[in-house]
Amino acid sequence: MKKESVVAKKKFGQNFLKDETVLQKIIQAMPKNDNKIVEIGPGLGDLTKYLVDVKSVEAFEVDTDLCKLLQSEFKKEIDTKRLHINCGDVLQAWKGALVDEPYDLVANLPYYIATNIILKALADPMCKNILVMVQLEVAEKFCAEVGEKVFGSLGIITQSVGRSHIVVKVPPTAFEPPPKIDSAVFLIRKNKDRSDEDFEDMLRVAFSQPRKTLMKNLSSKYEKSQLLEVFKELDLIQTIRPHQVSTSDYHQLYKKI
Ligand code: SAM
Repeated sequence: MKKESVVAKKKFGQNFLKDETVLQKIIQAMPKNDNKIVEIGPGLGDLTKYLVDVKSVEAFEVDTDLCKLLQSEFKKEIDTKRLHINCGDVLQAWKGALVDEPYDLVANLPYYIATNIILKALADPMCKNILVMVQLEVAEKFCAEVGEKVFGSLGIITQSVGRSHIVVKVPPTAFEPPPKIDSAVFLIRKNKDRSDEDFEDMLRVAFSQPRKTLMKNLSSKYEKSQLLEVFKELDLIQTIRPHQVSTSDYHQLYKKI
């Protein structure tokens, strides 16, 4: 099969990034280090061709038609071990660490599993940085600051393991075929791994009804009298909403209740 005759498969979230300016911005935003690159969903290889110029790449692609195409397109890089392509579902392959050396995840992710992939990468001890394209709405949640309406569990989990920011917002016209929604590239620099499941359980309770007060949400699981005491200690007013509480206050709350 030729690259030109590929028809995008919706079920695999295939929207191929064609805008050279955006591709360059992704390459420029890559953290400077000696880590390997993991690319999930190389697709037609438009990002891969720049990545292999800079570093060695471990790629995971579920679509067997695209795997064959990539294997012929990147024969030289595969022969020289600059690129290794794993054909199959990345989520099936991901048990603990996805590869056995420190890596940065750089990818235009399949949107239908993007949040799941990022959460797995945040927990993966070998993953050091995450530079990915996702739906704008999802990028904003991972990069949200306290007080913003979209500040929730994803923002708090991210701030608990590192720092994040949006690199560039990307319109549908940058892709072929164009998706229905806006996208964004964002970067998370990790300094530790996501690991505390009990803390995340508390967050789920805290944000169970985002428009209600934090006190009301937490009271469904924790003792009210204890909550009143802890809120007082942390100087949190009883009417505070879940998105108005900082990551460090959530950690304090968790320690105390
Ligand atoms: N990187 C290419 C680009 O920027 O043009 C393609 C990006 S496209 C949004 C997502 C890619 O992820 C597709 O190639 C798709 O086949 C692949 N993909 C979808 N689900 C996958 C999975 N579970 N495991 C590995 N790759 C997957």
